[in-house]
Formats: sequence, C-alpha cells, structure tokens
Amino acid sequence: MTKRAYNFNAGPAALPLEVLQQAQEQLVDYASAGMSIMEMSHRSAIYEQMNEETQSLLRELFGIPSNYKVMFLQGGASTQFAMIPMNLLPAGKVGAYVATGSWADKALKEAKLFGETTVVASSEADKFNRIPDLSNVEIPSNAAYLHVTSNETIEGTQYKQFPVAGDIPLIGDMSSDILSRPVDVSQFGLIYAGAQKNLGPSGVTIVIAREDLVQESPKSIATMMRYDTHVKNNSLYNTPPSFSVYLVNLMLKWVQSRGGVAAMEQYNRDKTQLIYDTIDQSGGFYRGFADAGSRSAMNLTFRIHSEELEKQFVKESEANGFVGLKGHRSVGGLRASTYNAVPLESCKALAEFMVDFQKRNG
Ligand SMILES: *Cc1c(COP(=O)(O)O)cnc(C)c1O
Repeated sequence: MTKRAYNFNAGPAALPLEVLQQAQEQLVDYASAGMSIMEMSHRSAIYEQMNEETQSLLRELFGIPSNYKVMFLQGGASTQFAMIPMNLLPAGKVGAYVATGSWADKALKEAKLFGETTVVASSEADKFNRIPDLSNVEIPSNAAYLHVTSNETIEGTQYKQFPVAGDIPLIGDMSSDILSRPVDVSQFGLIYAGAQKNLGPSGVTIVIAREDLVQESPKSIATMMRYDTHVKNNSLYNTPPSFSVYLVNLMLKWVQSRGGVAAMEQYNRDKTQLIYDTIDQSGGFYRGFADAGSRSAMNLTFRIHSEELEKQFVKESEANGFVGLKGHRSVGGLRASTYNAVPLESCKALAEFMVDFQKRNG
C-alpha cells in the first residue's frame, strides 16, 4: 500500500485506517448475508439491527438522555439550517442566533427565509476571530430558540462554554466537533452534525433532539422536512444512506475502543498543543488567527507574514505528504483540521515540518 497521507482536510476528512480496513473486510459480505450492506433492504432485520446499534452507541458515548431522539437524516447540516426554522420557528416568535463566523451566518441566512430572526451577539467586527462574550447575553423573551455553532470550521474558533438560555431551547451546530469532547446534552434542545468531519463519511447528518420539540411538526411543511416523520419512523421513513450510517457505526466503535469521548478530548488536546505551541514559540513567524481564548481544538488556523510564504508552505507541505493545509478561501492563510481520526503522528510531523520551514525561511 502507498503511504497514508498526513490528512488535514476540513471535510470530508480523515477516517481511521482501522475503520477503513474493517469496511474493506466486510465490503462484499456483511454479517454472513452473502452481500454488502449497500445491497440489502433497509427493512431487513440485519439493517434494522445495525441502525439500532448505531443509535445506542451514540447514546452511550455522547451521554444522550432517554428523553432525546436520535435521527439519521440526509441533506447535510445545510438542510438543518432550514429544517430548524421550518419546524421550530412559528409566526410571532423569533429565532435568536449568535454570529460567530461563516457557518453561523449561513444558518442565520436560511432562517430568514422562514421567519423572524435576531442576532444576540456577534464577533463580526473582529473578523470572527473569537467567540463573543455571552455571559450577559440578552435573549428576547419571545425567542423560539437560541442557535450556536459550537465550532467554526473556517475561522477556527470553538466555544469553551455554552450560553445558558433558561427555558429557551439551545440549538447547536456541532458538525465539526461532535464527539471530540464531552458535552452536557441536556443543556440543549437540539444538536445536529453532518458526519463527514468527526463521525464518518458524508451522506448522513445526525440530529439529537429533545422529544417534546420534535413530536409534532407544523402541518404545512413537506413530509421529508418534518422532524416528526423521521422520529415516528426511526429514521427509516425513506431509504436511508445505509453505507454512511454503517461507517458511522464503525467509527463509533472505534471511538469506544479508544476510551470514549473523554479520552478523545485528551488525545485531541495533545495533538493540537503540538501545533499551537509551535505557532506560539515561533517568535511571530506564525500567527494564530483565532484569539487564544477561542482557539479550536479541531480547526487550527494560522498565517505567515507574507502570502508568498504561505503559498510556498502549502506547496512544500504537499511535496512532503501533507494534505489540506490551505486555509478556506474566505479567510486565507493556513488551516490544519485535526478531527478525532487524525493521528498524533500526523500532528507531530506537521509541527516538525513547521519548525523546519521556519528555519529555512525565517
Ligand atoms: C461543514 C459544516 C456545515 C455544512 O455541512 P454540510 O453537510 O456540507 O451541509 C455546517 N456547519 C458546520 C459547522 C460545518 O463545519
């Protein structure tokens, strides 16, 4: 086999080699069925069992209380930007949003198509380089929910603490940091995440929602866009993205085998410290984009003083087996995405490469 790349892609992103190898082993014959999981009916006992097991694993690993429903949906997190206001934002109420960056902005834009919205806090004036202070945030009393983006994948910022919204349901887009650290799920009304960053491949979106919020959707919205359709049918209303759900299943078992979510958090801390330390000890050669207090443990954004050198960094890194280090076009600079599945060895190699690059160009 050719050497595995040092994969720092932002999404779709690295998957553990063990998970890929297991999928490879089971590709043509799943559970002695004489066929792959892609070829079998989603109404079969084998598929239903796998669907159930995936839910249970997620419940156990993420500590999801029993009064929450778990859904496996399609359309990406971007479809949730619409489903949330369609289902949960009635006339006369307002959807409250915290503007932290590119993804929060997209969620807000979509909600505006369906109802009243308000921005309760924003860091836009600082180019979204931090999570705004929310200790005294004022949420309108007629808010239907408060929406936060737990990790801004493009800017590289992450909440260290979530706002307290009282009786108002807190909704979290955790697409780029779900299962990377323990979360008190009971603080949230609804959590959603596209799988392709921390949970598996693209094609499936996880929605975790408090029962009372998704029991009955407004009658006027389309069947597939209603949470109650998917809750009532255990995410099997229509053909699910079966292979994606299966890979999430393998990925969850992998997280479990590594000691669960708390162990992942420690592992991620070790990984990112190598790179943030390199930035901080570079005497200004590298500059972190995010404010120190808002730095993400998933997407590490940084710059070099000249764009020429940034281009050279990307080029040389690619020649050395690194993938995905170019920053998002809207922010520029450099970005290393270090999701759960990115091995410590990749981060060590990157830190060494950064030191060496500075030596040659500093
Ligand atoms: C990637 C991402 C999305 C969009 O996900 P899709 O599955 O492509 O729709 C939304 N929010 C965050 C925080 C993301 O990182």
